[in-house]
Amino acid sequence: MSTGIHIYNSLSRQKELFEPLKPPFVGLYLCGPTVYGEPHLGHARPAITFDVVVRYLRHKGFKVRYVRNITDVGHLVNDADAGEDKIAKRARLEQLEPMEVVQQYTIAYREAMTRLNTLAPSIEPTASGHIIEQINMTQSIIDAGLAYVVEGSVYFDVMKYNEKYHYGKLSGRVLEDLQASERELEGQDGKLNKADFALWKKAEPEHIMRWPSPWGDGFPGWHIECSAMSSKYLGETFDIHGGGMDLLFPHHECEIAQSVASCGKEPVKYWMHNNMVTINGQKMGKSLGNAINLSQFFSGDHPLLERAYSPMTIRFFILQSHYRSTLDFTNEALLASEKGLKRLLAANKSLKELTAPAANGTINTELDAEILGLCNDLDAYMKDDFNTAQTLAALFELSAKINGIKDGHISADSISADTFALLKSQFALFTEVILGLQEEDAASHNGVTDGLMQLIIDIRKQSREKKDYATSDQIRDALAAVKIQLKDGKEGTDWTYLN
Ligand code: ZN
Repeated sequence: MSTGIHIYNSLSRQKELFEPLKPPFVGLYLCGPTVYGEPHLGHARPAITFDVVVRYLRHKGFKVRYVRNITDVGHLVNDADAGEDKIAKRARLEQLEPMEVVQQYTIAYREAMTRLNTLAPSIEPTASGHIIEQINMTQSIIDAGLAYVVEGSVYFDVMKYNEKYHYGKLSGRVLEDLQASERELEGQDGKLNKADFALWKKAEPEHIMRWPSPWGDGFPGWHIECSAMSSKYLGETFDIHGGGMDLLFPHHECEIAQSVASCGKEPVKYWMHNNMVTINGQKMGKSLGNAINLSQFFSGDHPLLERAYSPMTIRFFILQSHYRSTLDFTNEALLASEKGLKRLLAANKSLKELTAPAANGTINTELDAEILGLCNDLDAYMKDDFNTAQTLAALFELSAKINGIKDGHISADSISADTFALLKSQFALFTEVILGLQEEDAASHNGVTDGLMQLIIDIRKQSREKKDYATSDQIRDALAAVKIQLKDGKEGTDWTYLN
């Protein structure tokens, strides 16, 4: 039976019908963080993108084994085969043991991901916990004649591999161009060719993160960890491999080469890549002063931020774009997202409180069909390469209907009981379960804000009832000064942020 789900595969560069290798099981691997610093926006986008993929596939009845690794060794400062290990460097600067750095930032990452309401992976393996698997895989590539040992380091022989297979199939890069264009880097002595990459690096005496191997004391290369751990937990060939587009080359290109070289099999059926995040139109980077940590978004404590943005606002903002589009963070856009999220969750809450239509009402067939169509669209958009942007747009169209019913513009009895029941179940399902958009935890920033706002609104109401207009005006003016507007309606008083 066809799943009807289409996924854009970076390998074939087109949308393909998703058919799992061994249904109902789906193996999904996502390249996780290198834990040497505070989690930032660049971490949030892949985590949320693939969280929704996992949630949707599980909703469709698949048993998803979701593996997301923690890189705690082997990722060098320049992303290639030279420079200091990122974690060792941070440990030196902070005068910590490298595993203290790993512990601190692994916890920070997990906390941030929990606040963003992403589900925990099924398995969260670490590179340092899989040294033996990486050594074994490296040995199998040497045995296949596609890697060579130079002074205690092992390099992948890209030229030789390319004679038999195709290096560059994922990224579309041409080996000859790579050979000519790659910068000369220090510490690459011993490589036969510039495009070759390290599977194992010899540890210099001052290098603290080191393990024994058949080639002497050293540490694994960055790319081999994902090949070793994905094949261990998901098999030599598995369904979906995800990551940011910045990982497509060299990281994922190298993963394909390593797997094909060691066992002769393509490791992945569907390669999925989320696009990158920019801040105020600029690439994010420490040197540009715009690398905003997630905790700074949550607290508002950064010069580029006008105020704090809740984790759910960040999640909503990310889902408002399709994962293959670029995404630009600005204060303006985030404020709009905050409002949009509030509207969506309010509609969800209202719908839960609405009672089913009376059986003897006159059905407005046009409206009934429109609501039915929108409910069906929710799934149709998700099936089309997980188009969360379109799904959210359909939810907003439904929100308008729900608000119409709530405020009496639309008679609840003009839609059929079946359509109403479908609306009720689908709206909550897609909002809460699949997109993972929920009311903020009461302890979080927005929960506190909502609680305080309710208190202020209640005090104002009491003062008006006592005809104490001085107090009620004072409250209104004070709120206006901090750009909060009160709106009195039939259902009571509501509040919004002013731009
Ligand atoms: Zn990886």
